[in-house]
Parts: sequence; C-alpha cells; structure tokens
Amino acid sequence: MHFGIYYRLKKLGMIQHKCCICGQYSECTIERWRGWFNILFIPVFIAEKGYLFTWSACNHSMGLDDLIAVKQYTEEQVDTGILSVPVCEKLKPMTIERPMPINAKNILLLSPFILIIGLGLLYICLVMLGLR
Ligand SMILES: [Zn+2]
Repeated sequence: MHFGIYYRLKKLGMIQHKCCICGQYSECTIERWRGWFNILFIPVFIAEKGYLFTWSACNHSMGLDDLIAVKQYTEEQVDTGILSVPVCEKLKPMTIERPMPINAKNILLLSPFILIIGLGLLYICLVMLGLR
C-alpha cells in the first residue's frame, strides 16, 4: 500500500481457550497489532492499535480496538505477566489485513518519482542558498 494504514502484527503467545464465536476449545493465538499510517512504504505514525485473538481449530478471530479496552488489557498483561483472553463481551469480531511483503517491482516503479522529488528538493535548497 503506497498510502494509508498498514498493519503490523506481533505474536505474543498461544493459550488453550474456548472460542467466543462457536464455543469450540482450541489453541488461541494472541497477537498485538498496530496500524501504521504510511506514505510510500514509510511508516509515519501509529493510527490504531489493539489485540487480535485467533482460534486455531475454527479460524475465528475476535479483537480489541477500543482505546480504553486496549489500555486496560495491556495493563493487565503487564501486571500479571500471564497472557489471557478477555471476557467475550469485551471482544468483537475482527479481521486484520496481514502485511504483504513489499513488492520489489513497486519500489522499482516508484524510484523515478522518488528521484524526481529528491532532485526537486535539492534544487530548492540550492536556490535558497543562492538567494542568501
Ligand atoms: Zn470458533
């Protein structure tokens, strides 16, 4: 994605837990995600953050993205040091777009533009220095 939100996920761990959607017991993968606002593949700032819980048997996903709920969950994890799945009422169905590996072809296509912008900036700098 050249421009917009790019999601990065970090796996925190796995625990046996009952699925909040279908009730089946299986390994639940807990991931922390951050939505980076990026321009031309450059992450600029974190626009959103939260947690994702994915059950291995059914592939159902639930997540936290509410600011207060995310802060609360982070504090709980830090305080107890034990990973847990929040009560189902706090979670909502969620899917996170997995980050795609950066396509080398895209960078090649963009490089002339980056070069032009770079030369443009250099030119502006030289003009400003010349005006002094
Ligand atoms: Zn399920």
